[in-house]
Amino acid sequence: MRIAVVGGGPAGLAVAAFARLADPSADVTVWERRRGEDTYGFGVILPPAALETVRRADPPLADALAARLTAWDEITVHRHGGSRTSRAPRLGAVGRRDLLRVLRHRCAELGVRLRQGAAAPDTAALAAGHDVVVAADGARSAVRTALADRLGTTTEPLAPDYLWLGAERAVDSLAFLVADTPRGPVTAHTYPYGQGRSTFLVEAAHRPDTDALARLFAEPLGGARLLANGSRWGRFLQVRNTAWSSGNVVLVGDAAHTAHYSIGSGTRLALDDAAALVAALRTEPSVPAALAAYEAARRPAVEHAQRTGRASAAWFAGLSGADGASPERFLVDLLTRGGRISMADLAADAADAAGAPSAGTVVSGR
Ligand SMILES: Cc1cc2nc3c(=O)[nH]c(=O)nc-3n(C[C@H](O)[C@H](O)[C@H](O)COP(=O)(O)OP(=O)(O)OC[C@H]3O[C@@H](n4cnc5c(N)ncnc54)[C@H](O)[C@@H]3O)c2cc1C
Repeated sequence: MRIAVVGGGPAGLAVAAFARLADPSADVTVWERRRGEDTYGFGVILPPAALETVRRADPPLADALAARLTAWDEITVHRHGGSRTSRAPRLGAVGRRDLLRVLRHRCAELGVRLRQGAAAPDTAALAAGHDVVVAADGARSAVRTALADRLGTTTEPLAPDYLWLGAERAVDSLAFLVADTPRGPVTAHTYPYGQGRSTFLVEAAHRPDTDALARLFAEPLGGARLLANGSRWGRFLQVRNTAWSSGNVVLVGDAAHTAHYSIGSGTRLALDDAAALVAALRTEPSVPAALAAYEAARRPAVEHAQRTGRASAAWFAGLSGADGASPERFLVDLLTRGGRISMADLAADAADAAGAPSAGTVVSGR
């Protein structure tokens, strides 16, 4: 089987590795337009369920990823000068750069042809020369855009406005910091993902600049510098498609669907897509049957994550300085996103349900 993969992010690289493992005679090429180690963002949360998916498909890859995870089992909120900490599902994060490095290394070991620094050729030419073309080119997928009529694509920017930064310090665990300012609340989602590094993702309607943010969060940051990596204020793009394939072109990962970052699921969904697509190609009698089976298998979990993500985004967008929540009240509200999301939803989307938290058990505060 000849497989062309457009995009060397988590989805495309995982499809390529899993496809070569499932069928060592498969001819698999990945085109990635970025060069070398260049990528966007900082650390991403990889819940235990994501590692389990990888482990079922490729145990050595799961071991390599697990070795790079920075994990925690608490969640802290800071607001109004106070903080509260609760137990939480065990979660871990990995730098996007590290994640991609591990995936690329595994692809190379397995004999995937990787065209790094090369934009993919025209989709029609790829479709004519391959059994399957996998569009793994991200939330703004050009392959998908060219087929938007047939795929029933809708994209919608979701509030709140966000800026994806990093911090030059490893915080202890997942924390939500809220600074109430005269122009409205500024919320930072922060978690560690490596030696001396944390993700520091900020939301605010008035889009303060990085210097203002460093001043606002000087105390919890302990004086650590904020880092940018192609960082710009914007809104999260919610992507949906009524069909995930057209002919022999199939969407995976963010090209097919996105779920709001505040539930930390996008990479997991991408890895699950990759495993399901390769399993369907292996077991179904034809490519059209495999693409239909892949979509049928994945759509329910994806739509659940999108509903949870949307509710979570709406809760963060609705935060206002007027609610005056104590850190304790804010923590409970956060854990259920003000009643919009149950713990079961969060456990299903962001964690291994078996490790569901004794949520709201406050373990410390001041
Ligand atoms: C602010 C923010 C925070 C997030 N936090 C988390 C988190 O904590 N946990 C989590 O699981 N997910 C998180 N996500 C989501 C996660 O980043 C994505 O879901 C995940 O990267 C999807 O993987 P992908 O491979 O589908 O797309 P991408 O990672 O976007 O990869 C697509 C690749 O395709 C390449 N490409 C595009 N066009 C072409 C072309 N024509 N030719 C060749 N290459 C091309 C791009 O260069 C890119 O490398 C977050 C997202 C955002 C925006």
